[in-house]
Amino acid sequence: MENISTRGGCPPRPFSATLLGGLAPDGGLFLPEAYPQVSVGELARWRELSYPELAFEIIRKFATDIPEPDLRALVTRTYTAEVFGSPEITPVRKLGPGLHLLGLSNGPTLAFKDIALQLLGNLFQYALAKAGTELNILGATSGDTGSAAEYAMRGKAGVRVFMLSPHGRMSAFQRAQMYSLDDPNIFNLAIEGMFDDCQNLVKAVSHDAAFKERHHIGTVNSINWSRLMAQVVYYFKGYFAVTGSNREQVSFAVPSGNFGNICAGHVARCMGLPIRRLILATNENDVLDEFFRTGVYAPRTTERTHATSSPSMDISRASNFERFVFDLVGRDGAVVKELWAKVEAGGGFDLAATPFFARVHEFGFVSASSSHQDRIQTIRRVWDQHGVEIDPHTADGIKVGLEFQEEGVPLVCLETALPIKFEDTILEALGRKPAGPESLRDLERRPQRVTVMPADLARLKAFIEVHT
Ligand SMILES: *Cc1c(COP(=O)(O)O)cnc(C)c1O
Repeated sequence: MENISTRGGCPPRPFSATLLGGLAPDGGLFLPEAYPQVSVGELARWRELSYPELAFEIIRKFATDIPEPDLRALVTRTYTAEVFGSPEITPVRKLGPGLHLLGLSNGPTLAFKDIALQLLGNLFQYALAKAGTELNILGATSGDTGSAAEYAMRGKAGVRVFMLSPHGRMSAFQRAQMYSLDDPNIFNLAIEGMFDDCQNLVKAVSHDAAFKERHHIGTVNSINWSRLMAQVVYYFKGYFAVTGSNREQVSFAVPSGNFGNICAGHVARCMGLPIRRLILATNENDVLDEFFRTGVYAPRTTERTHATSSPSMDISRASNFERFVFDLVGRDGAVVKELWAKVEAGGGFDLAATPFFARVHEFGFVSASSSHQDRIQTIRRVWDQHGVEIDPHTADGIKVGLEFQEEGVPLVCLETALPIKFEDTILEALGRKPAGPESLRDLERRPQRVTVMPADLARLKAFIEVHT
């Protein structure tokens, strides 16, 4: 299976050639030239598989240029009970009749991003060893992504991580999670500024092609195709967990920001998984909800992006959305190129009057948004009715999911983080602090390793220079 670009300007490339990279050379996003189809017989056999076996079967349809024994070993090493807390990896809890919670947050950083990034860490190590090269990952984070990337890459041969975070602006828990890592290949840089300053520094380094090449600079941002591919697996796992036969349909509710998670659901559905609806939930930053309701995609400015109590969904533009639009417009790269020329010029687009927009429902998508009060009420309600603590992002998903729940169709809500990461909101909702695993109790007391630095490009480059 070769990968192509959403903007149609790049010849097909083997999976491995797109693994370490970010954007395609034409500025688009990589995705497979066609979605592999799952036969009735395969789907029946897959129902019986363990998580790593299922992951192998699905991923081998995409990563066709990795020898199968190698791929099986990589996947088996990634999805273990030691790393993810149980042999199910993504356990399902029943909340009520026809209502289920798919647990995606039992990895090292307690958010669903671990599921893809843990695999990426092993894939990167494998690919770099094969190519005899190394990679220095430079990233900016305001919380979840940075820690998931660090926990995925720690101790991996051939990889270093330089992670920029805004000094003093993350929660004590998030800081402790990242800064307490003492692996020699992980570098935490606390930048005296805001998240945007961190991101601008990363961009500035990326624009210096000579420096980038000399120091093998790369990223693990949310547009990496392999991350999405790894997430396809748990839609299958969740489907099998709540159904008795492959004739049944299931709907999924997905708390969404950059559109990575729900895009994996879209891919699963295109492969033939009987998904009825993909229910997209946003918080007050409702740029995606607006599109699915009206056909208008209007990315926001930073000033118009709200800081909410589900912060990992506080986005102004949805970086993976381009992949879905590529499918929506019949995989016509020229159309995508034209639409994103408008986006990159600071505007947006309106598909309402086009035949494309009518197809949104053929693809199973519906959407709505949720507010702070909705999150508080949903956290309370799920605790009172089901005795389960949920985090504010998961609450956005459940709130919106229930609005679209249908008689006779199981609803699976994706749990994207554990409540312990968002103590203040849980305290507000339930009047007490969230429960958490024993191992995390002392996290905030562990020694921390971080270099504080002004938002200065020369200083950052000098630091990378010395440490690579
Ligand atoms: C990243 C994240 C999201 C949003 O996921 P996307 O793939 O960006 O749509 C939702 N909840 C949590 C907790 C996250 O970390």
